[in-house]
Order: sequence, then C-alpha cells, then structure tokens
Amino acid sequence: MRAIIPIPAFSDNYIWLIHDGRHAVLVDPGDATPAFAALAALRLELRAILLTHHHPDHVGGAAELAAATGAAVYGPSRTACGTTFHTLAGDERVVLGTPELALEVLAVPGHTRDHLAYYGIGALFCGDTLFAGGCGRLFEGSPAQMFSSLQRLARLPHDTLVFCAHEYTLANLRFACRVEPENAALAAREMAERAKRERALPTLPSTIGLERATNPFLRCQEPAVIAAAGTAAGQRLEEPVAVFTALRAWKDRFTE
Ligand code: ZN
Ligand code: FE
Repeated sequence: MRAIIPIPAFSDNYIWLIHDGRHAVLVDPGDATPAFAALAALRLELRAILLTHHHPDHVGGAAELAAATGAAVYGPSRTACGTTFHTLAGDERVVLGTPELALEVLAVPGHTRDHLAYYGIGALFCGDTLFAGGCGRLFEGSPAQMFSSLQRLARLPHDTLVFCAHEYTLANLRFACRVEPENAALAAREMAERAKRERALPTLPSTIGLERATNPFLRCQEPAVIAAAGTAAGQRLEEPVAVFTALRAWKDRFTE
C-alpha cells in the first residue's frame, strides 16, 4: 500500500507525507513539529526528505528531522537547510528502496532559479511552481522561464495528481474567474473547491487535466485569456509568453 497525506504547517503550507505503512518520505518540511507529530501518530520511520526550493517555509524543519531520524535529504544546490544533502539539478532520478519510490527530478525555474519538481507514481510534487488555479510568484526567475516550466508540467499525463505546497486555491480561482468569466469548468471548480474549504478539507491534490481546463497560467493560448490579459496590460498581446507575463503582473496587484 502507498498513501500520500497532507500535513498542514504554518498558515497555508502543506508538507506532503508519502508512506507505505512503515517508512516515509516528506516533501518540503518547513516545520519539524507537525511532521514529527504525523510520523509518530502513524508510527512511521522517516527515510528521506525531498526539497523543492530553498525558501524557509519549505526547508525549515529538514535539519532537525534529518538529525533525529537519519533520513537522507535531497534538494537543489543553493538549499541552505542546515544539514548535508544530495544536490539535484534536474533531469535525474531519486530512487528509494523503502518506501519503494522512483521519482523523476524536473528543473522548473521561475519562483526560484533552481526550483525542482518531483514526478512519479502518478503524482507531481511541484512546490511553489504550479498551484491549484495559479502559479508561484517570480522571485528569482524570468516570466519566460516560469512559462516554460509550467508548460513542461502541463505536458504530464492529464490524470497526474498535483501536490503543490500551499492552500492558495480559492484566492487563485477568484482571480481565474476574473480572467475567464465564461469558463464553465472554472465556475464549477470554484464552487466545488469552496465547498471543500467550508468543511476545512484541503483542495489538493488537483490534476494536470483540471489545471489545464481552469488555470489561466496554463491557458495563455486561449482567446479569452489573451483578450483579458491584453485589456489588463493595456496593449494587444500575441505571444503566449507575453500573455503569461501580463497575467502574472495582473495577479500580483489583484487584491479582491
Ligand atoms: Zn517559495
Ligand atoms: Fe512557499
């Protein structure tokens, strides 16, 4: 058996826990305390920690967890996480024996310069790159980099489960509905996700197929998205990267 469960952390982070009933992997443990509690409650032995990028809300608990358990840590080169770790650059694999797990490492720069995503077992762990209904802010990378990273993720199989690192879905979908008010799949999703949050359930995982149908940042070739981004930017946009750039700038100042 294999399960993937969320461990809520801080105000809106999810640390993802992958386990086989005995052994576990954590993705982006920004806080050790809730991670230790989940491992103890399920009587799991931590074997590995996968980090997507160097931000403290993703790596803050890694050193303490690794010191207490001996878990191997994997992450991009500039991860100052306070412990030794295996440096990954993308286009390689992480293969673990327990739990049995082989994940492809994808370089997805944009939110940070060396952001990584992990893909396998029908699941994508994408940190702050692709969010449900949105995407991460561009702290280090260029819009063109983020655009091609998102395109790369969008090409994964439609039924791939998307485990991103934050519960930003409702705010993202409010913006998406402003971009595409006529998108019926988006309107239906917005209602469904709102119902989950009213019951305090996570909106994740999402799927690549659902993101392609409803996430404006993956829909930069859709006429409605091109038109809305052009109106927001005050100019006619043609290239998908220009549409993406305008959407990201619009979302950055969108507060409703
Ligand atoms: Zn981040
Ligand atoms: Fe984050």
